[in-house]
Amino acid sequence: MWQKGGDQKTHFPSSQKLWKLCEKDIYKKKYKGLYCVGCETFSEKEELNENGECLEHPGKKLDEVEEENYFFKLSKYQDQLLKLIESDELEIVPDERKNEVLAFLKGGLQDISISRSNERAKNWGVPVPGDDKQKIYVWFDALNIYQSGIGFGWDEKKYNKWWPADVHVIGKGIIRFHAVYWPAFLLSAGLKLPKKIFVHGYYTVNGYKMSKTIGNVYDPVPLLEKYGADPLRYYCLAKTPPFTDGDFSEEKFIEAYNADLANGLGNLVARVAKLCERSSAQPSAHNAQYSKNNLVEAFRFDEALKEIWTWISKLDQQIEKDQPWKLDNQDLEKVLVGYVEKIVKIAIALQPFLPETSEKILKQFEGPKIKSEAPLFPRIK
Ligand SMILES: [Zn+2]
Repeated sequence: MWQKGGDQKTHFPSSQKLWKLCEKDIYKKKYKGLYCVGCETFSEKEELNENGECLEHPGKKLDEVEEENYFFKLSKYQDQLLKLIESDELEIVPDERKNEVLAFLKGGLQDISISRSNERAKNWGVPVPGDDKQKIYVWFDALNIYQSGIGFGWDEKKYNKWWPADVHVIGKGIIRFHAVYWPAFLLSAGLKLPKKIFVHGYYTVNGYKMSKTIGNVYDPVPLLEKYGADPLRYYCLAKTPPFTDGDFSEEKFIEAYNADLANGLGNLVARVAKLCERSSAQPSAHNAQYSKNNLVEAFRFDEALKEIWTWISKLDQQIEKDQPWKLDNQDLEKVLVGYVEKIVKIAIALQPFLPETSEKILKQFEGPKIKSEAPLFPRIK
């Protein structure tokens, strides 16, 4: 969210421009409804749990709000959105989420409030163009941050360079805003839609939903400070299914760290570096290449990492088979060149997943003389 003052130069004109482009679909109406302050949205009764509370914010009472607001003709875009999503022109990944959006659309769209009175907005927010008594409703301008950050309304050249987005990466709780409201605003404004929406799940901890009441909420910052970013990235990407909820516990994290990072990748890198250091040969890896991975394009980060880890165990097996410590210098150089090429290929493939580790390995193996370094991942006891 923007800070007072700072983004009035860019975000304000950007959201006001979007509003003006949508003006033909905006009208004023008296409205009464239940409002979740956590979600910044009105909810229908049937969307709430048995206590009448929002599913994303259980334990919090909704406010009953009555006021005159500006509304956006969301209903007008129902058929157009259905077609765009059914045809994958606006692709929603995975299919379960796509079907969830299609079912929501087929259920019929209600027009939505896109402004709040200054009073309810506590005078905070982007003013509605031409009405100094109202502020733009949070989602209308919050979604527009995707555009206001890259120049929409204040640097058209920059905006046209970056928009439309290749993919929006979102949690499952905000799918309606991203897959229905946002494309409808863009259609109304005559702007291009994002190409894809990738929807991920939430984390459970030891099989339980994270909750402040249970006290099992994991703060990622102390974990990052204790273990570093790459090991945590590895756990999140390799051990979490991309489309459904994933489970986290420190025990499971340490298990994966020791097995895959300390033993698997770390050992292999140390082993090959040591062989190179001891040999008078100077292998280099000019031929290592890595092509685009389809699994990454399909958001299967877990499968992509599994594939990279099969290369790691294959190279381990290869070294066992070759027994390089028994070879004379000429044969040794030959096998080492092959090992170094494979290590470099692994390091390049790891770039999007473990950037710091990848850089360390590439630096270590760039030569001319490859030497042993401190272990990449010291074992955790
Ligand atoms: Zn809520």
